[in-house]
Amino acid sequence: MAKSKPLHWQEPTTENCPQCNGSGEFRGMFSSGPCAVCDGTGLVGENGEPLPVEDLLPMLRRQRDRIAGQIEAARQHYRQLLHTPGVREALAAEHERQQERQREKDMAFRKKLRGV
Ligand SMILES: [Zn+2]
Repeated sequence: MAKSKPLHWQEPTTENCPQCNGSGEFRGMFSSGPCAVCDGTGLVGENGEPLPVEDLLPMLRRQRDRIAGQIEAARQHYRQLLHTPGVREALAAEHERQQERQREKDMAFRKKLRGV
């Protein structure tokens, strides 16, 4: 029989794990790995206890969806920028300047090697 679940799941309030400071990593002198206090998530509940897996899994999925949404929004923004008059030309000019700077650096380095 399936476990009974609350009708409205709410993302639990979390805090950064006090042991690993939210990194989720344990770095000892002789070993390293996932932090044992927060199970490697970097988060603990309000009570300071690691989060139950039933809460973690939907939280991870939501986070993944949020990040995917942000990436898509950034892509769209970039595409719009490229359609703004003058932007493509400015990008090409900047690329050209960068290549020129690199060529100058290379020349200076070669001169240095030759000891001139
Ligand atoms: Zn931790």
